[in-house]
Amino acid sequence: MKILWNDQIVDEKEVKIGYEDRGYQFGDGIYEVIKIYNADVFTATEHIDRLYASADKIQLVIPYTKDVLHKMLHELIEINEVQNGHIYLQVTRGTSPRQHNFPLPVVESVLTAYTKETTRPLAELENGVKVCFVEDVRWLRCDIKSLNLLGNVLAKQEAVSKNCYEAIQHRGEIITEGSSSNVYGIKDGVLYTHPVSNLILNGITRKVILDCCQEVGIQVVEEAFTKEQALEMDEFIMSSTNAEVMPIISIDGHMIGNGKRGEWTEKLQQAFEKKIPATLEV
Ligand code: PMP
Repeated sequence: MKILWNDQIVDEKEVKIGYEDRGYQFGDGIYEVIKIYNADVFTATEHIDRLYASADKIQLVIPYTKDVLHKMLHELIEINEVQNGHIYLQVTRGTSPRQHNFPLPVVESVLTAYTKETTRPLAELENGVKVCFVEDVRWLRCDIKSLNLLGNVLAKQEAVSKNCYEAIQHRGEIITEGSSSNVYGIKDGVLYTHPVSNLILNGITRKVILDCCQEVGIQVVEEAFTKEQALEMDEFIMSSTNAEVMPIISIDGHMIGNGKRGEWTEKLQQAFEKKIPATLEV
């Protein structure tokens, strides 16, 4: 497999990352996961914009224009001949002797991106998944797509150890987001989701879903809701680049609605489906 390493596409064996890379030592970097449908990147502009926004928020300079990066990602997909899957892309603050403050003089950032062929989670999209509540113990800049994911890792591990697909995080009583997803509740034909703030990642799929809501005619209220309210929703959904519009059928063993994918959820899935390239190989 070929890897994008800074601005070169090279064989994976050629990639050398320093042991003093700040991503490796401090998680000092940012990343994106971009979906590939039918050999094309989905919502690439939005992902690249968010990558540069995350970079700005941590004062990291990506030494390529967005257009150059976009082109390089397309080349990578072509060279690796990926049909369906995703790109993982990360940029770190570079390699320099270990010290917490930024390197001075500034060193060049280190970019790596690779592709992975995957299939869509079709059974889960139809049958829904079970989740559990986990206290959100992460820092207060969850809007940055940072490599520092220990809080998210521990939350997901807790979910997996309970045979759950995802951890629904809450700060006190307030639901924020999943460990690697945004979440939504639907009650009496209204979709509720946490507003965009420092407490959640502004998901690209979230944005697509809010567009889908307009198309299917469901009202959106971007307001936080509580754990108790979550359990009383008619339908519950999580979303991410890889999980798409994923129905949640139970939280902590408590059935949501009738324990099956809800009607609004199915409509949103259909609207989402229309936005992705038509000739899918799954
Ligand atoms: N929140 C968190 C914490 C995430 O890790 C992700 C997945 N990257 C999301 C939300 C969903 O974001 P997106 O739809 O852009 O994949």
